[in-house]
Amino acid sequence: MGGALTAVEGTRQRTALVTGGSRGIGAQIVRTLARDGMNVVICCTAGVDAAQAVAAQAREYGVATDVLVFDVRDAARTHDALAAVMAKGHIDVLVNNAGIVRDGLFPGLTAEDWNSVVDTTLSGFYNVTRPLIMPMARKRWGRIINVSSIAGVIGNRGQVNYAAAKAGLIGATKALAREFAKRGVTVNAVAPGLIDTDMLAGAPVEVLVAQVPMQRVGAPSDVAELVGFLASDRASYLTGQVIAVSGGL
Ligand code: NDP
Repeated sequence: MGGALTAVEGTRQRTALVTGGSRGIGAQIVRTLARDGMNVVICCTAGVDAAQAVAAQAREYGVATDVLVFDVRDAARTHDALAAVMAKGHIDVLVNNAGIVRDGLFPGLTAEDWNSVVDTTLSGFYNVTRPLIMPMARKRWGRIINVSSIAGVIGNRGQVNYAAAKAGLIGATKALAREFAKRGVTVNAVAPGLIDTDMLAGAPVEVLVAQVPMQRVGAPSDVAELVGFLASDRASYLTGQVIAVSGGL
């Protein structure tokens, strides 16, 4: 674990919490926010060693880091972990990035496939966001960035569970943005298309790429740069939006 997450009030660096920051898009978001000068708290489940490695890369930018191990589906564990991190310092930016796929055509989709995907995305959003948003509102500054998916916008064969969860996250984004717009907290969603991470393992990438106008997959940095912008002061008049990073899909 890195240094203290608090500093002298007034000169305090901002701190971001990134769920699913151990790998893929989330890890790149951590590195990007650190490059942009933010302290970063990384949350993951199994990938603790990977998260520690990402934290070490972030510290090379001179920021403080912390790694929290909790499953965003577990309300009690999430509550306790966030209480501990908030006792150390304020969270200014939340990136709800943790997500999973359990693909299959709908007739074969099990209740477990449905529940695990919906829980990770939607209960995860609720469990992590609710404790953090009122402290942001009290400070009249905050950023919540939800990592949805283009599947939640246009649908995708074999992903009824995933598309439903990611579309639900878009609804939550728009509603929460309206609730907190007057209090300086912006809430936006990014909707990646095909991004080169572990999540594509086993997917028919060549078939999918053929549907992408740019005819290629994107890199985690394509998403992370947008998240970095949304997390900054430069995006202060932007809320309730869904921005696709999808090569035109
Ligand atoms: P990866 O599978 O590479 O990484 C997923 C991350 O989420 C890991 O850090 C993992 O932690 C974490 N995670 C998963 N479940 C939980 C949980 N219950 N609690 C806490 N952390 C959890 O995925 P990507 O980087 O590709 O995806 C990141 C986000 O982007 C997801 O929300 C995904 O749906 C979305 N997305 C991805 C696309 C793509 O093409 N890659 C396209 C569109 C959207 P651990 O390492 O501990 O397992």
